[in-house]
Amino acid sequence: MSNYSSQSVKDFAKTVLKGFGCAESEAETVASHLVDANLTGHDSHGIGMLPLYGEQILDGNLVPNQTPLLHEPVGAISVVDARRGFGHRMALEALDHAMKCVPEHKVAILALRDSGHVSRVGTYSEYCAARGYVSLHMVNVVGHAPIVAPFGARESGFSTNPISMAMPVEGQARPLLDIATSTVAFGKVRVASNKGEKVPPGCLVDEQGLETLDPDPMAQSRIGALSAFGAHKGSGLGIFVELLAGALASTDTVATMEHLPHGVINNMFSIIIDPTAFDSREAVERRTMDFYDFIKTRQPAVGTESVLLPGETEQGNRQERSEHGIPVDDETVRQIVEIASRFSLSSEETAPLLIPVKR
Ligand code: NAD
Repeated sequence: MSNYSSQSVKDFAKTVLKGFGCAESEAETVASHLVDANLTGHDSHGIGMLPLYGEQILDGNLVPNQTPLLHEPVGAISVVDARRGFGHRMALEALDHAMKCVPEHKVAILALRDSGHVSRVGTYSEYCAARGYVSLHMVNVVGHAPIVAPFGARESGFSTNPISMAMPVEGQARPLLDIATSTVAFGKVRVASNKGEKVPPGCLVDEQGLETLDPDPMAQSRIGALSAFGAHKGSGLGIFVELLAGALASTDTVATMEHLPHGVINNMFSIIIDPTAFDSREAVERRTMDFYDFIKTRQPAVGTESVLLPGETEQGNRQERSEHGIPVDDETVRQIVEIASRFSLSSEETAPLLIPVKR
């Protein structure tokens, strides 16, 4: 495990993406997204995704430089067919298209369909907040067998189905909630397996439906299942993400979508709201921050330093990792160099781009 400068991690990722066939601007967008996921501490959605993307391109299920199909909005509702393009770029273009409805309706609803992996969903809340909008995003995950056990089941029924939402305060997403509806994202199980670590309690069940801390059977052979967070409540939310992003906004849920080799397809259901439809921007921001500050004054539990709002861990990680570098384990680097070599990029063209930061 070494810490690498964020700029060098981005250069490394961008070179690999260009090797995959992405044009300069798409490689820039995707690499920026992945490195920012690493910076915020979500290594599960950072550059460690590149081997999967490479496999998907080789299988024909992820299309570099795709042009999304932007359907004419119906009222405030926009449908965008990503046609399996890189989700990081497709989602931003789809949000730009949907947001054109906001001046007239004060709200926009987006259905992004059949997209490549959109990765860290909080990115899209931040994108909307930077434009002054409140937003909610729900993403279902199809194209492979489900990996999360519904409450009470010994087998999987849906996937990690994340939700993100944020309020805009001075162009920042504050607070910013960004969660999988499983206790942990699948990528965190992969990262734990790559590092030879156990997962915390409450994350995984084995094939009997009993708790296990060993990430390897799930990470390497898909044996067992992730647990939904919060027992029946998180499980219920995961089911509704599937229904809103899949049954309503898209054409498939996990019950009907074919299983692809290395398949990870996302559908995203987003609601984007102009807060000025309710009150002045300043008044909404003031109430948001009054509540934010109120939460910050709550006495921490014994053993806890301070009460954090959603989004604070990401802010702290961004600052720390910008300064001290992004930790990337050797196995992840090896996997990325290996997939790049299958696109005719030699290890001399990729690995040396990573520049360690001395701590
Ligand atoms: P997580 O369990 O780390 O939870 C993250 C959320 O909890 C953030 O909002 C964070 O600010 C907040 N948080 C963390 N510690 C906190 C504390 N001490 N007090 C208060 N709030 C705290 O993340 P996760 O659920 O494992 O999800 C990780 C990432 O995976 C997310 O970025 C998500 O969008 C992404 N994801 C993507 C997909 C996809 O298919 N595209 C699928 C699943 C997850």
